[in-house]
Amino acid sequence: MYDPANWLQQQAGQMGIVLSEEQLSQFERYYELLVEWNEKMNLTGITERGAVYEKHFYDSLTVASAVELSAEGTKLADIGSGAGFPSIPLKIAFPTLKITIVDSLAKRIRFLEEVVKQLGLRNVDCVHGRAEDIARLAEHRDRYDVVTARAVARLAGLNELCLPFAKTGGAFVSMKGSDIQEELSESRFSLDKLGAKLTEVKRLELPLEQSERHLVVIAKIGATPKIYPRKAGMPLKSPLV
Ligand code: SAM
Repeated sequence: MYDPANWLQQQAGQMGIVLSEEQLSQFERYYELLVEWNEKMNLTGITERGAVYEKHFYDSLTVASAVELSAEGTKLADIGSGAGFPSIPLKIAFPTLKITIVDSLAKRIRFLEEVVKQLGLRNVDCVHGRAEDIARLAEHRDRYDVVTARAVARLAGLNELCLPFAKTGGAFVSMKGSDIQEELSESRFSLDKLGAKLTEVKRLELPLEQSERHLVVIAKIGATPKIYPRKAGMPLKSPLV
């Protein structure tokens, strides 16, 4: 009989990710907390168990098909993580990751701190603030092997929020839905300005729902020029296009 947890384990296996019973319990506890806290605050429009396992958990894990995450000590920053996507599922699946989560909404950060505590996750730093401000701090700037963002903004603006976190030689993986051609061409100028280049666009499909997804993989090829990111609000209000 179909069970979302078994289904996730199988699908993860096809991506080369082996999920133990303990990791499956962490996913299940995360699901329970998501639904429980969603009654008090707006975390997600998706609450049906199978849909959460596919559209949030499975979808988050697909990042592993685009970048290497299993190397010991890999540092990942998730910008605009909301209820924890994609970084919390990635942390459950790849326990050696060192994660920094940045979100401008304090109550979502409080939720994530509770998730981290209840799931017993180590090396997850939940930072409340706008990416534009946090990226100016020396401990976060040009520091991360991998930067992720899902459903935060259009790519041209998002590049300015996310690329300053990536180190030279690191990657930014932007998780997108369908119809991305216009966004991609619109983002070329910002890549140039921010010392980055597009390396791959990976097309995926959610296995059950069959909706289209894209992972836009961007390589950071040089340090972020000092003027970026511009002051909070500017990157999305007036993107580099
Ligand atoms: N990544 C999650 C997901 O896919 O479910 C959440 C997406 S939610 C639509 C966008 C999140 O980005 C929100 O939690 C919002 O608070 C955060 N956000 C928007 N602008 C931001 C900024 N400039 N700096 C940090 N977080 C930001």
